Amino acid sequence: MTIVYSVILMSVLGLSFGIFLAFSAKKFEVKEDPRVKMIVEILPGANCGACGYAGCEAYARAIVANKAKPTLCLPGKASGVSKKIKEILENSGKS
Ligand code: SF4
Repeated sequence: MTIVYSVILMSVLGLSFGIFLAFSAKKFEVKEDPRVKMIVEILPGANCGACGYAGCEAYARAIVANKAKPTLCLPGKASGVSKKIKEILENSGKS
């Protein structure tokens, strides 16, 4: 009988924690500007730091926050990354 009680107890605890975690994930969800993801997708992804930021995603966040110019990515210069970033910012209407 002890095993049955243990299984029931563990099931109830597991279900309770699962519901709590699902609720917490929804309640404390961090909403991110969708432009960050769009900009990250067009950056080279080398994470070289030549732009002065820790990586491509940090640079994208700085651009969206108006803390960095869109022309700082040296590896992406040849492929016209800065022009594409400007288009994203202009099309969003928040530049
Ligand atoms: S310079 Fe370009 S490739 Fe290098 S980390 Fe910055 S955004 Fe990424």
